[in-house]
Amino acid sequence: MSKSANLGFPRIGGDRELKRALEAFWAGKTRARDLEATGAVLRRAHWARQKNAGLDIIPCGDFSFYDQMLDMITTLGAVPARYRGEGLDAPFARYFAMARGTAGLPAMEMTKWFDTNYHYIVPELSPDLTFSFADSRIVDEFTEAKAQGFDARPVIIGPITFLRLAKVKAGDEGALDYLDRLLPVYAEILAALQAAGASWVQVDEPAFCLDLGDDWLAAATKAYGALAGAAPNIMLATYFGSVADKLPALLTLPVAGLHLDIVRAPEQLDGALDLWPRGKTLSLGVVDGRNIWRTDLSAALKLAAKARSVVGSEFLEVAPSCSLLHVPVDLNVEEALDAEIRPWLAFAQQKLDEVVVLAGAADEGREAYAPAFHDADDAVAERRASRRVHSPVVAARLANERLDGRAPRAEREEAQAAKLGLPAYPTTTIGSFPQTQAVRQARATYRKGVISDAQYDEFLRAETEKAIRFQEDVELDVLVHGEFERNDMVEYFGELLEGFIFTKKAWVQSYGSRCVKPPIIFGDVSRPVPMTVKWSAYAQSLTSRPVKGMLTGPVTILQWSFVRDDQPREATCRQIAYAIHDEVRDLEAAGIGIIQIDEPALREGLPLRQADWQRYLDWAVDCFRISACAAGAATQIHTHMCYAEFEDILPSIAALDADVISIEASRSGMELLGVFREFDYGNEIGLGVYDIHSPRCPEAGELREKVAAAATVLKPEQLWVNPDCGLKTRAWDEVKPALSAMVSAAKSLRSESSR
Ligand code: GLN
Ligand code: ZN
Repeated sequence: MSKSANLGFPRIGGDRELKRALEAFWAGKTRARDLEATGAVLRRAHWARQKNAGLDIIPCGDFSFYDQMLDMITTLGAVPARYRGEGLDAPFARYFAMARGTAGLPAMEMTKWFDTNYHYIVPELSPDLTFSFADSRIVDEFTEAKAQGFDARPVIIGPITFLRLAKVKAGDEGALDYLDRLLPVYAEILAALQAAGASWVQVDEPAFCLDLGDDWLAAATKAYGALAGAAPNIMLATYFGSVADKLPALLTLPVAGLHLDIVRAPEQLDGALDLWPRGKTLSLGVVDGRNIWRTDLSAALKLAAKARSVVGSEFLEVAPSCSLLHVPVDLNVEEALDAEIRPWLAFAQQKLDEVVVLAGAADEGREAYAPAFHDADDAVAERRASRRVHSPVVAARLANERLDGRAPRAEREEAQAAKLGLPAYPTTTIGSFPQTQAVRQARATYRKGVISDAQYDEFLRAETEKAIRFQEDVELDVLVHGEFERNDMVEYFGELLEGFIFTKKAWVQSYGSRCVKPPIIFGDVSRPVPMTVKWSAYAQSLTSRPVKGMLTGPVTILQWSFVRDDQPREATCRQIAYAIHDEVRDLEAAGIGIIQIDEPALREGLPLRQADWQRYLDWAVDCFRISACAAGAATQIHTHMCYAEFEDILPSIAALDADVISIEASRSGMELLGVFREFDYGNEIGLGVYDIHSPRCPEAGELREKVAAAATVLKPEQLWVNPDCGLKTRAWDEVKPALSAMVSAAKSLRSESSR
C-alpha cells in the first residue's frame, strides 16, 4: 500500500503557544518545567492532529524550542567553547545562550535556511571540538511519542547538510575534514534510535539541492556507506530544489528511501524514475510545503500514479515537498477570510488531508475519494477563471506600456546637485523612527475602532511633526517622515494594493519565538490610490530641508509574501513594480525631490543554484528600474539594503542605477572597501556607519574614521553618512546621541575637506 507521510509540522502552535511560553520563560516569569510542559503539550497535539488526519508516517524530533539546527549542534556535542563554561548549567541556559546570547556572551550567528524566511543557528567548527552524542533529545521524543501510541519517524539533519552549512571558525581544516569525527556520533544516534524501536529515520539533506562539488558527493557516499549498515532504514530527504544532477550518486547510496521535492523541481521525476532501483522507497513531495495554495489533486495524482507504476505501491510514500514548518497551521481558524479566495488555500492541516487523499487514491483510484477531487477540481477551475485573479486592465497595461530608462547618470547628477544643494557627506536616516509603545497602541486602538480616523490622523501628524523637528534639531541634511503610520514595510503596502489579502492568525516561524504573517498575493496587482503621498507631503510641508519619500521595492514585497503559483514570480514582481512606479510618479508630482525604494530582500531572492542567479538578477533589476524610472532627472532615487555581501552581485547592484544606495558598513566596513577597490562604482553610496541593532551608542570619532577610510577608496563626493537600517526598534534616547555623533562626524569631515 502507498503511504501518506509528513516531513515536519509547524512547531509554534496554532495560537503561537510556543512563542508565548518562550517569552514568558525568557522574562523569568515561568520555570523550565513550565516551558517543557508546553513543549510536550504541543508535540502531543501535533502528533494527534497528524494521526487523526489519517497519516501513515508522522515525524518526531521536528519539534524544537528554538531551531532544529541548534538542536543538532547540541545533539552532536558541537557546542562552541565559549558556551561550555560553568554558570550555564541551569536547564535551557546553555541552549538559549547559544541561540540568543547572554549579558556577557554574544549569540551564535543566525542566517536564512536555504531560500526560506526561516533562520537557523550556524554551526561552528574548530579543532577544539570533540563531537559526542551529548543530548538524547531525539531518542526521548521518539520514546515519548511511542508511549502515547504514535509510532513516529524521527527526523535529524544529515551530516552533509550539517557540515555544508557550518562555518569553520579556527584551524586550517575545511568543513569536510570534520566528517570522519562526526560519523561515529551519527552512527551512535542512529543505533540508539534503532534500539529504542525506530524502524525508519528521516535524515534531512537539503544541501543536496545546492551546488556541491565532487568532494562533497564523495563525502556523501562515504557517510551513508558508513551509516546505513548499523541504522534503521534511512529516508534521505532532499528538498527546496532539484537533485537531478546528483541522482546517479544518490540512488546508489545504501539508504532505503529518497525524498524528492516534486513541487520545486517537477522536472526531476522522470529522470529519477528511469534510474529508480528496485526496492527503494520513493517519497514523492507533491504537496507544496512552502506555499499556501490548495493542491491541484488531479494533477498531483497523475504524478503519484506514474511513480507508483514504476516503484510499486509498497515502495511509494506521498508527502509534502518539505517540512510544513514554512506554512501556517490551520486555515479553519481564519474566520473573516475572503469567501472567494478561501477555497483556493491550504495550510498545514489541510495539506495533511491532501497527502492522505493522494496516497489513498494512488492505490484505490480517484473514485474512492470523489468528493475531495471534486472540490479540488472546482477550486482550481474557479481560481483559474476568477476576474479578481486576472485583471484585463493590468494585463493590458503591462503589455502596452513600456517603462524603462532614466536620464543618463551624469545629467541626473547635475540636475540633482543644482536642485538639492546638499553639503559634502550628506547625512540621512533609513526611514523609520522609534515605534514607541504609544505608536503601537494608537494603531491598535484605531484598528479596534476605539479611535476615529480623524483622531488617528491627528496622532500620526503630531508624531511626524515631532520627528521632523527632532531631525532639524540634530541637523540632519535629508529628513524622513518617520513611518509612524506603518506597521510593517510590506504589510502597509499590501493593504493598499489590489491583489493582496491578509490573514488574522496565519503565523509562520521566522526564528526562535519570532513569527511573521506574510500577505498573500492571490491576483493581479495594481494600485488604486496613492499610498504614501499624504504623509510625505505633510512632512515636507513642515520643513525647508528635503524630505525623502519612502517606498518598499517590488522584489522585497514579493519576497516577503506568499506569492501566487499560477504564473512565474517574475510576472507578479513586474506588476508590483508598475504599482510602485505610479507611487514614485505621484510623490514627485507632490513635490518630493528624493525617493528611497527599499530592497533589503533583493539578495535573499537569489536562487539556490548559481546557474540560475543571472536570470533572477536580471528580472529583479528590471523591476527596480521599472519602479524608479517614473522619476525625472532632478529627482534623486535612493535604495537601501541592510547587508554588505555584494561581491558576487555587484554588477546587478550597479545596474539598479539608483542615484544613492545605502548599505551596511558598520560591521563589515573593511570587506566593503575591498569590494569597491575592485569594482568601479560610479553612483553615490550611503555608508551605514553604525549598527542600529546594537544598543551601543557610537562615538563621533569612530564614525568619522570609518567614513574617512571609505574616502580613500571611493570619491568623497560619492559618500553619504547614515545608520545601517531603520530606527524603529530603538528608543528616542538612544537615537538622539547616535545621530548627533553621526552628524558631528560628517561635519568634521566637511571642515577638513574644505581646508
Ligand atoms: N525604510 C525601512 C525602515 O527604515 C527599511 C527597513 C529595512 O531595510 N528592513 O524601517
Ligand atoms: Zn535595512
